[in-house]
Amino acid sequence: MIIVIGPDATKEQKQAVKDKIIELDYTPHEIVGVERQVIGAVGADHGKDHLMEVLESMAGVESVIPILKPYKLAGREIKSANSVVDCGGVTIGGTRIAVMAGPCSVENREQICTTAEAVKKAGANMMRGGAYKPRTSPYSFQGLEEEGLKLLKEAKDLTGLPIVTEVMNPREAELVARYADVLQVGARNVQNFSLLKELGKISKPVLLKRGMMTTIKEFLMSAEYILSEGNKDVILCERGIRTFETATRNTLDLSCIPVLKKETHLPIIVDPSHGTGHWDLVEPMARAAIAAGADGLMIEVHPDPINAYSDGPQSLKPSKFTHLMDNIRPFIQLMGRTL
Ligand code: PEP
Ligand code: MN
Repeated sequence: MIIVIGPDATKEQKQAVKDKIIELDYTPHEIVGVERQVIGAVGADHGKDHLMEVLESMAGVESVIPILKPYKLAGREIKSANSVVDCGGVTIGGTRIAVMAGPCSVENREQICTTAEAVKKAGANMMRGGAYKPRTSPYSFQGLEEEGLKLLKEAKDLTGLPIVTEVMNPREAELVARYADVLQVGARNVQNFSLLKELGKISKPVLLKRGMMTTIKEFLMSAEYILSEGNKDVILCERGIRTFETATRNTLDLSCIPVLKKETHLPIIVDPSHGTGHWDLVEPMARAAIAAGADGLMIEVHPDPINAYSDGPQSLKPSKFTHLMDNIRPFIQLMGRTL
């Protein structure tokens, strides 16, 4: 439920409300808003019918409103204003459009550094690259692991671009967080609840990818796992869902953008590379994503896609990425946003 604190409430009264929430076995989450001071009380609801009345009668409390949606902290009920997440200096969810670009996998120093320089020159403001790779086959390249993280850091030192990279396992969360500016949860891990809980305790933004069979409600419930542990910095990423269609690798569900914008205050970005699986479809879908209201894009770029260790067919050469950047600018402007 949402506890609206009155404008004249004292610090002590506010603290007493928080203490009461804890005493009643709920967790208080303070929501910083411009118009009103709000404390969210979330937790298991059973047997707590009296909680609303108890809180309503406390000094300093203006009103108590139940939260109807199951995603208590991710929903717009508790926080109507858009969340803006600071990702190593680049904000996502405000007027700025985030473009994170780079190879699917970090392969070697030369590959990651030249790609980072090229995407920066083209106008990207963040870089991506996987050091821990979730591959369908155990015989495929699994990533350079910590060595890959170190190379990402070198590319960051060279370009200044913040790093987005995947963490697959709760055991590696802290290690990846030491190098990364944003921790990516891959589509296959969207319901790895132990991982989500672990990332909820880390003070680094989390980029949560939608699973290939995840409904929008399930997607938001996964975000809720991270938020409920205290990490407020969650960015959602649509990367295509599995349908009967075989012409594309996945079906990029761009309609989820306006749906999510209605339901949640969290930023939402789009990955048209995994969403389509074909490099030539990436640019049109990137333009469409911006037009539909996405807060950013994640694009796979590789200097030599034919020889890429993973996802070559959907990776853009740097020249094609430059073309994409030039062609999304008018759409960004049209939407009243900036790069
Ligand atoms: C990736 O970003 O390289 C990746 C593995 O993406 P997804 O989890 O969306 O398949
Ligand atoms: Mn990939």
